[in-house]
Amino acid sequence: SAKVVKFNNLAIEVENLHFRYNPEFPLVLKNVNFTINHGEYIAIIGHNGSGKSTLSKILIGVLTAEKGIIKLFGNVLNSQNIAQIRQFLGIVFQNPDNQFIGSTVRADIAFGLENKRIEPKEMPGIIQQAAEKVHMEEFLDHEPLNLSGGQKQRVAIASALALNPDILIFDEATSMLDPKGKREVKEIMVNLRNQRDKTILSITHDMDEILNADKVLVMNNGELVRYGTPQEVINDEGFLESIHLGVPFIAEVENELIKAGIKLNKTNSMDDLVK
Ligand code: ADP
Repeated sequence: SAKVVKFNNLAIEVENLHFRYNPEFPLVLKNVNFTINHGEYIAIIGHNGSGKSTLSKILIGVLTAEKGIIKLFGNVLNSQNIAQIRQFLGIVFQNPDNQFIGSTVRADIAFGLENKRIEPKEMPGIIQQAAEKVHMEEFLDHEPLNLSGGQKQRVAIASALALNPDILIFDEATSMLDPKGKREVKEIMVNLRNQRDKTILSITHDMDEILNADKVLVMNNGELVRYGTPQEVINDEGFLESIHLGVPFIAEVENELIKAGIKLNKTNSMDDLVK
């Protein structure tokens, strides 16, 4: 199917967004406003119940805003065009075991392509490329059952990438993984960020992951309370604690080292410390 038109380079614009699940209930999103440039990696954080998943469901058109405007690349989202506008989006969910449809990795990646009516002769190349991007090309004929959680999530990312979406949403995509799986998936996310040809939105509880983001969008009680760089958010003394979130472990270690007079070589990524 034809790609929808991009009117500008703003991947996501949210204006004056309000939402409630039921007319008798209070608002769960209150006047939310933000803009995301194409190619940025945005981490969305906030305490449980702060409105993160409601926000993502509105962005993917599963829920409809009560008031406000959502634009993807300048296209105003409405009930008529949501199917078309979804072509901009790829999503990776939390549970690695709920993401598989195919009996092999190859079949799984192919499934979305078949749905999109991609020419059969183009599929092998697309599948190979998508698998390479997540370092799973050796596993194309493996059964999902035998993969680790991290590998399963990498296949889920490949399945999303095969459809070439401009925006990738990670909805707690690392939260059910073991430490090795978390590292694998976060490494892929950083690789994708570095290519700068996708917009990445990551809803996360992993306070260390936010250090990989260009900006952090902080939700609290249905309101967007901060939208800044990870450093701005972390260095604001007491801010994260005030909304019941912890300071990232790596940032804490770094602060302690600085206090102790130990200089860190910034060209060595902080990631190296935890590997
Ligand atoms: P988060 O993803 O940050 O944990 P949610 O978006 O899931 O937050 O929830 C925001 C608020 O909306 C919470 O108060 C939650 O109880 C409420 N909520 C979530 N889903 C529903 C629903 N299906 N019906 C009614 N209220 C809901």
